Order: sequence, then structure tokens, then C-alpha cells
Amino acid sequence: MKKLLLSLILFFATNNLTANNLHKQNKVAVIYSDQFLLHDTGKNHPENPDRLISVVENLIVNPLFKDSLIWPKFNPASLEQLQLIHSKNYIKKVEHETSLLTNNSTTYLSTGDTVISKQSDHVARLAVGAGIKGVDMIMSKEISSAFALVRPPGHHATATRGMGFCIYNNIAIVARYLQKQYGLKRILIVDFDVHHGNGTQDIFYEDHSVFYFSVHQHPFYPQSGRPSEIGSGKGKGFTLNVDLPKGSGDIDLVNAFKNELNEAVDVFKPEFILVSAGFDAHAGDLLGQLKYTSNGYKEVALILKDIAKKYSSGRTLYMLEGGYVPDNISWSVNEILSVLTKK
Ligand SMILES: [Zn+2]
Repeated sequence: MKKLLLSLILFFATNNLTANNLHKQNKVAVIYSDQFLLHDTGKNHPENPDRLISVVENLIVNPLFKDSLIWPKFNPASLEQLQLIHSKNYIKKVEHETSLLTNNSTTYLSTGDTVISKQSDHVARLAVGAGIKGVDMIMSKEISSAFALVRPPGHHATATRGMGFCIYNNIAIVARYLQKQYGLKRILIVDFDVHHGNGTQDIFYEDHSVFYFSVHQHPFYPQSGRPSEIGSGKGKGFTLNVDLPKGSGDIDLVNAFKNELNEAVDVFKPEFILVSAGFDAHAGDLLGQLKYTSNGYKEVALILKDIAKKYSSGRTLYMLEGGYVPDNISWSVNEILSVLTKK
């Protein structure tokens, strides 16, 4: 019933947008599909469809966003797009293992701690497709920024291994797509999920064209992300990790951005900003033990908006990673969108 209601609300929101098509400029795209709810992780799993339902419902009824958000339609990523990052073998493995499942059954992906169901491969490809749609709209100047509200998350997935609730590394594929399709030379990935994005770091560790910045809890899953990990070879100096002890709050988060990231971007000068936006560092999360508030995420969005204005013509795409208390995701996404939609 809840799913049906969401579909109906979304239907009206999408149709209203048609009337406003001529005035898309200065709007922000929210890239979401009800199909993201089909990735079934079983009973009592923290990464479940409820995470998206309340955030989308609240955005649709929020009068603040009545005329400022658009809700585009989009397609799953192609095999060629997945292969920008992932090995053929790994993609085949995901395809095969999900195809063995019957409706309503779940199992673990053989590479790690990610629950999969029959629809998971399709939904994971759609999550990547959401990011690709966002950057296509931004590069064609229809909009300057977007928020992709996707499941499953992606930043723990390496080129050959899904883990930590992730199947495909959504943001890494989008970064490579931006380079291949649009010839961009310098992409910044900012990751403020409570967990270190080991997959994203691993993929770009020897790469000087993608700068990876992560602020996360330590010690914590997946244990990587120490400040001593700075990249290697050509990528040396293009990975920047700030780890925070449990209990750290907004001041620590904002200081990491002001003191560490701002300095790095003045040298790197990113042409596009991608954000791995996890909200499991919010106070009261089921998994994380940091104490950020929605206001902390707003502060971060303001800093990123300034960087984007200065270096990347405003071009910014946020993609949802973790966050396991639906209200916390909802409030935080609201704050970020209030920053993005303000002229
Ligand atoms: Zn996380």
C-alpha cells in the first residue's frame, strides 16, 4: 500500500514537471525510482526500502521544494558502463547469483557481506543509471546539481568484489563515465558516510585524475582510510583521509572540510564534484557512532557549493550511500537540497 501511494504521488509530481519543462534551469533533479524498493534484503536488515520511502514522501509534500525540484526518468546502466570499473567476471557473477534466486528469497553475494535478491542486479544497474542521468543533465546544462536517491549503496564495492551492502560502485562508474563521455580531467569525490569508502579509494588509488576525500569514523568497518593512505604511483597525494573517533560531531566534520579539503581543492581545481552522501554518521544512527546533525550536513553542502562555484561551474552530483534511520536521511537530504535550490 505504501509503495502504491508513493507511485501515485510520484506520478503527479512527474506530470507537474512536464508543464514546467521550459523553466528547468536553476532547478535541482532528484533522481529516484520506485524500482529501488525492489532490492530485497530480508527481514530486519538496516539497508531496507523504508530508507527511501520517507525521504521521497517528505520531499514531494514539502512546500519549500514545490517549484524547485524535477524528477527525471532514467534507465539502468549498460554492460559497457558497468565495465568502466568492474571486471566482466564480477558482473557475470552478480548476474548469475541473482538469477538463481526465486521471488522472496535472499542470500549473500559470494564476494562479501551484501544481501541479494532476484531483482538486485537490475536495481543495482538502475542505481548506476541514476547517477549517469544526473551527470548527463548537468553536463547538458539543464540543471547544475542533482541528488540521486538510490539503493543499493556503492562505495564499498571494488572492481571485483561487492561488500558492505554494495554491489556496483555507483559513484566510481559515474566518475569514469564523466571522463570518457565528456573528457573531464579532474573529478573530486567527497565521501562523508560514517564508513570509509574502501572500494572507491581502491579503484582510484593510483589515479591522479580522480581526487578521493573521505571523512569517517575510526576504528570502524572496513578499517581502511587512515590519514597515511594518500594514494600511490601517479595517484600519490590524490587520496585524502580524515578519520574521527566515535562521538565526533558537526565541528569535527566541518573542520575537516575547511582545513583539509579546501586546501586540497585549491591545488586540484575539480571540474566536477561527486558526493558519496551517507547519513550513518548522523547522531542516533543504527550503525555509526558519530554525532553529526542535519545542520552539519547543511554546513558541508554550503562549503561544497562554494567549491563548485569557484571551480566546477556549480556542477555537483550527490548519491546516497548509507544511513539507517529514515528520518535522519530525510532531514539531512532536506537541508542539502535547501542549499542546492537556493540561488
Ligand atoms: Zn556507511
